[in-house]
Amino acid sequence: MLCIGYMIQIYGLYYKEGGYILTKKVLAVSLALLMSLLNMGTFTNVEAREKEVLPVEENVQYTPPQEETPAEEASAEEVPAEAVEVTYEEQEVNKRVIDPTKPMVALTFDDGPSKYTAEILKVLKENNSVATFFVLGSEVNKYKDVLNQVIAEGNEIGNHSYNHKNLKTITDEELYKQVQGTDDLVYIASGYTPKVMRPPYGISDAELNKKINKPIVKWSIDTLDWKNRDTDKVVAAVLNDVKDGDIVLMHDLYDSTAQAAKIIIPKLVEQGYQLVTVSEMSEYRDVTLTQGQQYYSMYK
Ligand SMILES: [Zn+2]
Repeated sequence: MLCIGYMIQIYGLYYKEGGYILTKKVLAVSLALLMSLLNMGTFTNVEAREKEVLPVEENVQYTPPQEETPAEEASAEEVPAEAVEVTYEEQEVNKRVIDPTKPMVALTFDDGPSKYTAEILKVLKENNSVATFFVLGSEVNKYKDVLNQVIAEGNEIGNHSYNHKNLKTITDEELYKQVQGTDDLVYIASGYTPKVMRPPYGISDAELNKKINKPIVKWSIDTLDWKNRDTDKVVAAVLNDVKDGDIVLMHDLYDSTAQAAKIIIPKLVEQGYQLVTVSEMSEYRDVTLTQGQQYYSMYK
């Protein structure tokens, strides 16, 4: 605006002097103004460039935020970490706290999964308890969802052969298929590998146990549920004899057993027993589960 004022003054002089007389002074001022205008233009351009550059500078200035971005990423990483923590806490809510000084019992269910397994899972969960399910490879794909539920709810899966043959009567090749084949089927269906094995009918000897090459889990209480198919008898078989460290044999293959489980499980909990998996009991009883060795109970 100042420049325009000078320009008017210059032209004013120009006209006053008759249009032709421009003093050296006026010429000098005009030149100076012209230079100023050019400079201003130049400055304007610089400013424009600076403005153009600014975003770059802003970008540079963003660098600290960008440097903070990793921090934000770190905090973003913390978010899943917190989410994991929340999940963990949620699991903690459901997680059983096992007191090694208190009595514990391992309930085991053989020959499933079956249509009755879910009923047993329900009562276990309601009582914040778990058990070990010795499954048959032949049933795994039929009850894949139940198998996964068994695992998801903290229970243990044991290997009970593929189709319940007396393992003492078969070839080594067939034995391998019965045991490894079942492990593979369970793994494919669930991603879980059974750690322990129970031979069908509980029939095995030292030589066979060695060939099976897994810890062999037998039992200290036999409910004979497969034979009596009687809920009351199954309940009595457990409650009349149970003691700390027992491994109880049942089968999740019968309705009478599922009904018995509904009575046995809350009753044992009420009596102060912690219902644990075979592997948990071995851990809390300092029993090292060894391949080829067999276990009937884990008394103190
Ligand atoms: Zn069996």
